[in-house]
Amino acid sequence: MTPQTETLRFQAEVKELLGLMIHSLYSHREIFLRELVSNASDALDKLRFEALTKPELQAGDERLAIRLEVDASTRTVSIRDNGIGMGHDDLVHNLGTIASSGTRKFLESLRARGATQTSGLPNLIGQFGVGFYSSFMVAAEVVVETRRAGEPHGWRWTSKGDGEFTLEQVDGLERGTKVSLLLKPQGDEDQDFAEPAELAALVRRYSDFVAYPIEMAAAHFKERGDLVKSTAPDGLEVARLNSMQPLWARPKEEINEREYADFYRHVTHEYSDPLETLHFKTEGSNEYTALLFLPSERPFDLFDPSTKKSHVSLCVRRVFVMGECEELVPSWLRFVRGVVDSSDLPLNVSREILQKNRAMGQIKKHVTKKVLAALASLAENRRADFLRFSTGFGAVLKEGVVGEAEEREALAPLLVFATTHADGPTTLPEYVSRMKPDQKAIYVLSGEDREQLARSPQLEAALAKGLEVLLFVEPIDEWVLDRVKEFQGKPLVSLDRGEPDFVDDAKKRELQDLEREHRGLCEALEQKLGGSVSRVRFGARLTESPAVLVDEPHAIGRQMARFLKETGREVPERKRALELNPEHPVVRKLIELHRDDPSSPRVTEFTELLHGQALLAEGSPLSDPSRFSKLVGKLMLGAAH
Ligand code: ADP
Repeated sequence: MTPQTETLRFQAEVKELLGLMIHSLYSHREIFLRELVSNASDALDKLRFEALTKPELQAGDERLAIRLEVDASTRTVSIRDNGIGMGHDDLVHNLGTIASSGTRKFLESLRARGATQTSGLPNLIGQFGVGFYSSFMVAAEVVVETRRAGEPHGWRWTSKGDGEFTLEQVDGLERGTKVSLLLKPQGDEDQDFAEPAELAALVRRYSDFVAYPIEMAAAHFKERGDLVKSTAPDGLEVARLNSMQPLWARPKEEINEREYADFYRHVTHEYSDPLETLHFKTEGSNEYTALLFLPSERPFDLFDPSTKKSHVSLCVRRVFVMGECEELVPSWLRFVRGVVDSSDLPLNVSREILQKNRAMGQIKKHVTKKVLAALASLAENRRADFLRFSTGFGAVLKEGVVGEAEEREALAPLLVFATTHADGPTTLPEYVSRMKPDQKAIYVLSGEDREQLARSPQLEAALAKGLEVLLFVEPIDEWVLDRVKEFQGKPLVSLDRGEPDFVDDAKKRELQDLEREHRGLCEALEQKLGGSVSRVRFGARLTESPAVLVDEPHAIGRQMARFLKETGREVPERKRALELNPEHPVVRKLIELHRDDPSSPRVTEFTELLHGQALLAEGSPLSDPSRFSKLVGKLMLGAAH
């Protein structure tokens, strides 16, 4: 008796979907395998779950696995599972329509039965029914042979994806489903899905952590010593293509350091150990598990503007969906590596959908909070490791302070700066804890070179008073200064601008008196220096040097000026005041010379020399080095007489 064949039409939306997919997803053709493997894994989950109450469903064929087969001569690839399988109506509904996804129905029926415990539900991959149809991107014809667990008959579903499919009853099938794809002729694409090695690579890339073995005849992989090989229940020698280790899905208590480190190396392709591992799970309406790492080594391309702004992958129910997912972490956490596995997102989620998805926004916020908390704990409990981390990634973290106002408060205590304090780099909380009882501000000096800055005359009075000064030497530090105006109620005050606030009132009065008394001298100096300084005044910032150049309180900083210049933008003219140290013998001598003969050429020479010295001391170039050198020579000769 010839079995009867039915011919049915696809639901209109399916036809539409097929057309859309073939045209818009063509460059992602390879995802067909991921989709079919996910369906297979899903079917195995369902069987496992149903067999909990009906063990006979699994009896006789206990070992759950996914088998890939490829026949290069006919260009046929098949994906087989011994999962739940499909009956006649399942096939019509599941593979003929999109409105009713079997998975969704399955979930609904479970809920109706009162299985409210989420932990009791199997992990169902792909609640949104487009996955299977992606096979038509690579196949000219798709044949599905399937037998539903517990049913006597099986079915063969066939379609060329052209609007209709046929169904016929077939006997003698094993439990589960076999999807066979008759591949389209190979065009000029490099990727050939009839190549076992290509399929193996795709499994590794997209489905590595599927919880069931994904196997293929070992004969295809004679050379591969790295694959686990065994004899399957049907007697075939098979090689396992996936590691089957969704590490993040296992309970934390059961995972040891080495396993975490192995996984870290697997995802990062690095040789080092992670500095810190974060493994956490959220429950409730937006359920996800995250396995994230703080790396110990700084990658060479951390500041390369073309590198990805995220190194966290998105999985949905253990299936890899997207690498380098920027919707999961802000770019200033781009050093974080790992996986976020959502239980709620659709498997076929696109980037556009992710960007608008509210759940994603919540995940990002929560992940950010978790990473910051881990860093805070590192800072508190493992100072050496924290400093090592900061050396590698601190500057990236500072981008967060500069860019994102929301996280500024949580981030500020985690920033590390060079300091004049003997213990080396410091955080703001550490600085504050060392502040003197009457100290009003956090003092900061910015420049390009740490050593040079540490010797800067700008620091003299502060150091003489025993005050600690932060040395802002990273290019981004000055931006930080621009954004973080205060910390724990203490303002951040730049020592190279305005009048330092640690000068006491008596000293201030003394300076004002001097200023009045010698206004003539100051004006003469201003005139002699032409337009190169805004003004000349006496100040209390110096103890050892005769003169220093000081910014006006609201002037833009040096780094900022350099940045504007480098990016081709207009730099506002930066005129600084020349501050004289009235106690310095050279300054006293100048006062004397001017008093005796204001028109003496030595007053001019002294003025130029003082200005040049101030420039040299801060590491700035002289406008006329040869003139300066001549003046020094003349001075030496004068001293020798
Ligand atoms: P999705 O998996 O996202 O629901 P698909 O179009 O990939 O959408 O599959 C539609 C339905 O077909 C699935 O929900 C499932 O019920 C059924 N199905 C697909 N593949 C299999 C399989 N290998 N075994 C059992 N059922 C399957």
